[in-house]
Amino acid sequence: MILDSFTIKHPFIDTTPDTVIIGSGPGGAACAYRVAMAGKKVYLLEEGWHHSYTYHGRDEAFALIHFYRDGGLTAAMGDPPIPVLMGRTLGGASRINQACALRMPQKHRKKWIKAGLGWAEKKLDEYYDDIEQLLKVGPVPENMLNRNGEIFMEAMKAAGGTPELMRRNAPGCDGCGTCITGCPTFKKRSTDMTFIPEGLKNGLTVFCGAKATEVKERNGRVHVKGQLIDQYGSPISYFHISARTVVISCGALFTPLLLFMSDHPDPHGRIGKGFYTHPTAIVFGIHEETVDGFDGIPMQGYCDSFFEETGCVIESMFLLPVTTSVALPGTPAEHLQLMKRYRHMSMFIVQRYDSHSGFITHWADRPFPFYNLAPDDETGIVRGVAICARGLLRSGAKEVVILASGGIRYRREKEINEHTISFRKGKGFIYSAHPQGTCCAGENPERYPVRPDLSLRYSERIFVADTSIFPYPTGVNPMLTAMAAGYHAAEGVLAIL
Ligand SMILES: Cc1cc2nc3c(=O)[nH]c(=O)nc-3n(C[C@H](O)[C@H](O)[C@H](O)COP(=O)(O)OP(=O)(O)OC[C@H]3O[C@@H](n4cnc5c(N)ncnc54)[C@H](O)[C@@H]3O)c2cc1C
Repeated sequence: MILDSFTIKHPFIDTTPDTVIIGSGPGGAACAYRVAMAGKKVYLLEEGWHHSYTYHGRDEAFALIHFYRDGGLTAAMGDPPIPVLMGRTLGGASRINQACALRMPQKHRKKWIKAGLGWAEKKLDEYYDDIEQLLKVGPVPENMLNRNGEIFMEAMKAAGGTPELMRRNAPGCDGCGTCITGCPTFKKRSTDMTFIPEGLKNGLTVFCGAKATEVKERNGRVHVKGQLIDQYGSPISYFHISARTVVISCGALFTPLLLFMSDHPDPHGRIGKGFYTHPTAIVFGIHEETVDGFDGIPMQGYCDSFFEETGCVIESMFLLPVTTSVALPGTPAEHLQLMKRYRHMSMFIVQRYDSHSGFITHWADRPFPFYNLAPDDETGIVRGVAICARGLLRSGAKEVVILASGGIRYRREKEINEHTISFRKGKGFIYSAHPQGTCCAGENPERYPVRPDLSLRYSERIFVADTSIFPYPTGVNPMLTAMAAGYHAAEGVLAIL
């Protein structure tokens, strides 16, 4: 049953569930599914709304306002300021993400295992197997490659790499190109199309417009208090639910916020620390031919070949016009000229495995993320950007455009000079769609506020299951690993119930 703040009788007070899960993104929904499948009574609370698939059409600006946190305008303060994209709707960011479904590579799992997460060695692949089956993950079919995808393959090979087809959780996708406005064709297997409907068949109850503001363990029960809100966030009433266990899955910015607001003990000051972003730069190729990259799957290819020298993965991507315009340099006249070349553009992203982290603090009920791009990370991104630029020019692009060093336009390979490319000191555009860390899990109590079984260090009955538990970045798109965290937390919850 899916209820919302208009359809339940309020104030809503309930003491009957075995488990309350807060947040319906990949971590929370996967956990809710596993616990509900075991026959337990589960409530899933989601602050955002459940929008029907036909409600919004394919309107980019509309989707930003309705499905994204803060209309897509949340930013981490620092140098450079980094926009951090997040979902706020049923399904969390899985509803508006690009449907890339990658396992964390073995090379990145080692640090997790060293932090004390033995399950990253023993169980992670089992979790991934099950999740991939439910999400029907597979590579982009070759016949679905559009010109942007083909240019990516050509450019990566021309730069000396071995690109691969992206793996995605959207079987039968028709390539309408609007993944980030919410799939209008029901093909993306986001959590509202997979874990949640499966959970509903097993008695799961979902509450939308239910924003938790406090979680406290007392006398063997956990009390969740919060506001019932309308679609725009205005409070209508309140709720108070108590359960035997609670799982917090509000994402990497909002899970620490809820713990701060609940005055959760943190003697070593570790909640909010270890904030990773996968800082990401965008490289545009301008071509004589018509590319029409918006017509087709936006993310079709993936290249890990340059990781040793850059610490980055390079992926093909194509943005819709509103977001493209934000990432292009130039005076109004130059910007206009570039936007007029939209149909002739190719786009790649360079996504860095952070070597340093930032932190989250808060004021009242708002999280404030701080993140400075570290010099090492800037150097890696610059190398990745230069590789893309070389590959693009070698494979026929007429020009390469990057919002770095105040605005770069290369027409010949010999113009590329890594020493003159910079993103720090306000000179370039870096964004993040992968906030991670902030309630990191691990063995050492002085360093990790969450235990390896994903229960909170100072509470037996409160668990955390989302990207906030990552002690180090995944290095690749993190959705599948957030779901795996949900599976792992469910084991801890079921052991108590
Ligand atoms: C535009 C975009 C594209 C992306 N593309 C990809 C991709 O292709 N592949 C990939 O692997 N990853 C991708 N990601 C990242 C991926 O979607 C996220 O890493 C993942 O969704 C994080 O899962 P999560 O469970 O940690 O949190 P989220 O998905 O952020 O879900 C948290 C949920 O909790 C809710 N919530 C927060 N606070 C409260 C509260 N107090 N009470 C109730 N509910 C609350 C939020 O509204 C939200 O719905 C993308 C992200 C974005 C934004």
